[in-house]
Amino acid sequence: MSVLRGRQFFMHPGPTNIPDRVLRAMDAAAVDFTGKDFVSRREKAVEGLKRMLKTKDGVVICYASSGHGAWEASVANTLSPGDKVLVCAAGYFSENWARMATAFGAEVEMLETPERHAVDPAAVAARLAKDDAREIKAVMIVQNETATGTMHPVPAVRKAIDSVGHPALFFVDTISSFCSYDFRMDDWGVDLVVGGSQKGLMLPPGMAFNAVSEKAWNASQSARNPRRYWDWRNMVENRRQVRFTGTPPMHFFYGLEASVAMIEEEGLENVFARHRRLATATRACVKAWAAGGGPDVFPLDPAAASDSLTACLMPKGHNAEEVRRIAETDFNVALGRGLAQLEGRVFRIGHMGDLNEPMLLGALACVEMALKRAGVPHGSGGLDAAMATLA
Ligand SMILES: *Cc1c(COP(=O)(O)O)cnc(C)c1O
Repeated sequence: MSVLRGRQFFMHPGPTNIPDRVLRAMDAAAVDFTGKDFVSRREKAVEGLKRMLKTKDGVVICYASSGHGAWEASVANTLSPGDKVLVCAAGYFSENWARMATAFGAEVEMLETPERHAVDPAAVAARLAKDDAREIKAVMIVQNETATGTMHPVPAVRKAIDSVGHPALFFVDTISSFCSYDFRMDDWGVDLVVGGSQKGLMLPPGMAFNAVSEKAWNASQSARNPRRYWDWRNMVENRRQVRFTGTPPMHFFYGLEASVAMIEEEGLENVFARHRRLATATRACVKAWAAGGGPDVFPLDPAAASDSLTACLMPKGHNAEEVRRIAETDFNVALGRGLAQLEGRVFRIGHMGDLNEPMLLGALACVEMALKRAGVPHGSGGLDAAMATLA
C-alpha cells in the first residue's frame, strides 16, 4: 500500500473535524468534578449551549453518551408503555429513534415520507386531526436527516400541530443540524431536543444532551417507563442539572467552552452563513456532475437540501462504495457511506463544523477524480460551478 502524506481531508457528516483549539482545551488534568471551579465552568459552558439552542426556559441535561443515549433518554423519561407516538419517518435516523421508542413499549406510528422528499407538515396536521381521542403523546422529527442530507421543516410542523390544536409533545433531533443552521427551541415550541457533541459542535463523540421544556419535564414526573442511567429526576434540581449518573464527561465541558467561544466569536449567524455557502458550492458541483449522468443531490427540492451535508445519489449500475474507496485510498479524502437501504446507492459529503473553502474545494476535486477512476459517468465543470458560487 502506498503511503499517503499530508492531512486527511475528513468529510464525514459526523464525527467532524475537531479544531485544534478544542483539542488543546481538552488536554487537561483531572480535577474534582464536584469542586466549585469545575462546576462553575461546566455551568457556564451549558449557558452557551442554551444561547445556541435559543432557549431561556429549557433545562439542558448532559450525558456521557453518544447521541443514541440522548434518544433513549428522551423516550425513557417522558413516555409510559403503550403510549402512542407519531414519528415523521424520513430515513435511517428517524427509523432508529422510532426503534428506541418501540423498545420501551411505545406504540409507534410511522408517518412515511416519500423518498427524496422532506416531511410534509400538511400530512402531520391531517394525521393529528384524525386523533379525536388525543391519544398521540408525542410527535418526533429529525431536523436534519443525516442519511439523506435532507432538512425537515421543524417550525412548519410545529404550526401543523397547533393548527389542529393537538396537545402532543414535540420532540426534535438536532444532532446534525445544531450549530449548522437555524434552530429555535422556545420560538418553535419544541418540548424536547436531542443533541450530540460530534457534529456541528465540533467536539469528539461521547457527550450528548437533551433540552427539556416545562411541559416535557412535567410529563417525565408521571411517566412510567423504566429508567435509571437516564433518569432526569436524579440529575436536576430547580430546573438545573446538578449531578450526573456517575462521573460527568468532564473534559467535554472544557471542549464545549472552547467550541462555544469559537462559535460566538464567529457569530452564530455567520456560522450558519458559512454552512450555507459551503453547501451551495457543494450542490452546484454535484449538479454539474448530475447534468452529465453522474451522482445527483438526494433531495429533489433544492430548498430541502441540507446545509450540513450533501448526500449524492449514484447513477444506476454504479456503486458508491467504489467511489469512497478510491477517494480514501488514492487521495486521502474520507467520505460518508450510504446507510442501510442507501448503502452503495449514496455517498455523503459532510460540510459541517470546522471547515473552509480550500478544504471543501480540495475534497470536491478529489471526489471528481475518484468518479473518473471508478468509471462513473459525470458532467465536467463541477469545480468551476462550485468556485463560481464562492468567488
Ligand atoms: C449522528 C446522529 C445520531 C446518532 O448519534 P450517535 O452519536 O452516533 O449515537 C442521531 N441522529 C442524527 C440526526 C444523527 O446525525
